[in-house]
Amino acid sequence: MAEHWKVPASRALRADGLRIADIDTSARPGFRGGKSDGQRLLAERGRVLAGLQEKLYANGRTGDRRRVLLVLQGMDTAGKGGIVRHVIGSVDPQGVDHAAFGVPTDEEKQHHFLWRIRRALPRGGQLGVFDRSHYEDVLVARVHRLVPDEVWQRRYDEINQFERELVDAGTTLVKVVLFVSLDEQKKRLRERLERPEKYWKFNPADIDERGYWPAYQQAYQAIVDRTGTEYAPWYVIPADAKWFSRLAVTELLIEALENLDLRWPAATFDPAAELRRLDRS
Ligand code: AMP
Ligand code: MG
Repeated sequence: MAEHWKVPASRALRADGLRIADIDTSARPGFRGGKSDGQRLLAERGRVLAGLQEKLYANGRTGDRRRVLLVLQGMDTAGKGGIVRHVIGSVDPQGVDHAAFGVPTDEEKQHHFLWRIRRALPRGGQLGVFDRSHYEDVLVARVHRLVPDEVWQRRYDEINQFERELVDAGTTLVKVVLFVSLDEQKKRLRERLERPEKYWKFNPADIDERGYWPAYQQAYQAIVDRTGTEYAPWYVIPADAKWFSRLAVTELLIEALENLDLRWPAATFDPAAELRRLDRS
């Protein structure tokens, strides 16, 4: 466990029994330092993460089927893209399988909601990242009634069964939901409208979505309650401070990789003999 954490991030952030409406989005659960400690640690721990990820990749290259999948959820501006850039950005891109999920395409709409998800799963040895995920099908789909009630209602069980399969096949799931306050979101949307280099991130519908905040909170509560399992728990991260949410996700990924107890793959040749051969060559 890194300095400044009172308990492992996985314990401090685990969502079991959490009331979404009670979240203090500016809190830093489990962490006792300030912003400058956090930023320094982020760089340091990013290097630790990169080392562990390289070991996962090396094992994948020699046939290990295990993988880690980071599932990122959160309202617009919560910082999902920043996690991808700053946390995942600290590791070797060769070892990353990234997928972002938007409004389903016409083709995707013709299939079961998990169809496009299955096609984007990380390969063995990879660190997968989902920027949004199958959870949109019980979030936006529920809030905007994109499907009949009985359809989204049965998806919780379908998701649990799907994730059970993934875990049984060697995937470690790290499910993270980032929470910003309605005020912080307003500030971030304002920035997107005031800075031309941020226009591309803005979607006029994001403002309409603010009107559905309580419905989304309810939908997030249902997710945490119904799909937070022993084999695939949810972690809830207060995200008003970007440095904190990035550090927290870094720590969760480090823990997930450490739990795999990875070793460097053994040589499939005799290194001493090869060295002698090399010297003679
Ligand atoms: P962004 O992450 O900002 O690129 O936005 C992606 C958009 O796609 C969000 O408004 C999501 O709610 C929407 N989206 C993602 N998955 C689904 C889904 N399964 N059904 C409907 N809309 C979705
Ligand atoms: Mg958006």
